[in-house]
Amino acid sequence: MSIAKNLLAIKNQIPEKVTLVAVSKTKPIEIIQEAYDFGQRIFGENKIQEMTQKWETMPKDIEWHMIGHVQRNKVKYMAEFVSLIHGVDSFKLLKEINKQALKHNRVIDCLLQIHIAEEQTKFGLNKTELDEIIDSEVFTTLENIKIVGLMGMATYTNNEDQIRKEFGQLKSIFDAVIKKINTIKILSMGMSGDYQIAIEEGSTMIRIGSSIFGARNYQ
Ligand SMILES: *Cc1c(COP(=O)(O)O)cnc(C)c1O
Repeated sequence: MSIAKNLLAIKNQIPEKVTLVAVSKTKPIEIIQEAYDFGQRIFGENKIQEMTQKWETMPKDIEWHMIGHVQRNKVKYMAEFVSLIHGVDSFKLLKEINKQALKHNRVIDCLLQIHIAEEQTKFGLNKTELDEIIDSEVFTTLENIKIVGLMGMATYTNNEDQIRKEFGQLKSIFDAVIKKINTIKILSMGMSGDYQIAIEEGSTMIRIGSSIFGARNYQ
């Protein structure tokens, strides 16, 4: 199947209000260009160097989303151009993003990543850590970041009930946080294997890689 066909199939399946992030990590420019030519403008990457190279080469109306774990010392490389950082999982990281955004005279949109999966290997804040950030004095002084939503990844499992439960947990946290921060509107949850469940549970942004571009080949 062609990339255009894959994109169309997904677009036809999801409500219009759900934003599709095409996860292009590991995929070469020519392949990403096919999705671009079909109208896709939002792409997700998880490695800073790869994302920067693609940003430099590809049309400038693309929104590049950093969806992977972000190391603080790498923020400076994307501060100039990144549209949305999905995986903000510490206060220190948020402060660093603010600092680097200021250097470029920008306000960078961020999602706070919440840990909902069983696996310890997935990153994210728990509810207490989340509250510590958003209730703190310092948070209100960070003028070069904007928290626009939350992001989470469910456990990698075939157990749909469990996936649904975890997405449901994230949705309730989202509903609670919306009352405290009025810039919050995005709930980023759902990947190729679980986006239908995520949308049923209230996702507004899905991150799809392999269902668009095919399986990834890590070498
Ligand atoms: C790779 C990745 C995706 C896309 O995964 P697929 O299963 O290929 O759709 C989504 N979100 C994050 C955080 C990823 O790292």
